[in-house]
Amino acid sequence: MNKKSYEDVSSYVSKIAERKGWILNDNSQTLRDLVEGLMQNFNRHGYYNCPCRDSQDDRHLDRDIICPCKYSELDIQEFGYCYCALYFDPSTDLGGRIGMIPERRPE
Ligand code: SF4
Repeated sequence: MNKKSYEDVSSYVSKIAERKGWILNDNSQTLRDLVEGLMQNFNRHGYYNCPCRDSQDDRHLDRDIICPCKYSELDIQEFGYCYCALYFDPSTDLGGRIGMIPERRPE
């Protein structure tokens, strides 16, 4: 498996954001932490497991939480950002408030 570099993953999330009409978290430290989490997950599991959810190390079992996860569109529509706060709707004005949103993934 080819390992991903920080730059690879940064480019990947930028492309996803552009394609979906989203923007990335503008807090550079948070963005860096999330990109590093995705990079570690890819290099460990072979796919972009969500950086704020546990992986079962099985692509099939984790398929709904491969970034961008199955829940991201609904979360961004409803709350303005995804569960990890990586991707945002550009039109949402949160006034600097970013709290935890409910986990939409069934247990
Ligand atoms: S919550 Fe955000 S970062 Fe996590 S997988 Fe979904 S889209 Fe990606």
